Amino acid sequence: MASLRLCQLFSRAAAARRTVTLSRPALRAMSAGGVPTDEQQATGLEKRNIQSLQKGQDPYSTLKPKSYLGTKDDPHIVPSINKKRIVGCICEEDNSAIIWFWVHEGEVHRCPSCGSHYKLVHHELPH
Ligand SMILES: [Zn+2]
Repeated sequence: MASLRLCQLFSRAAAARRTVTLSRPALRAMSAGGVPTDEQQATGLEKRNIQSLQKGQDPYSTLKPKSYLGTKDDPHIVPSINKKRIVGCICEEDNSAIIWFWVHEGEVHRCPSCGSHYKLVHHELPH
């Protein structure tokens, strides 16, 4: 009896599937214009960052910093929102030790180990 009941249920379900007309699949947003770009998908902080990068600005320091010679005339630029910032200098490429020291606004500081020069430049956050 149970198997008969199960057969009836399956046959009804199969008939119902057959009678369901398959509607045309809804158009997805991507199918109209391709895959959205990063600019189209970005929101919030990421969108502001992308817009700033398009203007040639790097407010969140996401790009590789410009290289400086580290001399007194061309010191390494240290952006900061405060009047001082702690800096770690890897004096030579293979060094495993980092020399830490404070850099204050308005002065050019010299690494006590290698002699590279660092200068703090005031940096405003965009928000
Ligand atoms: Zn150094």
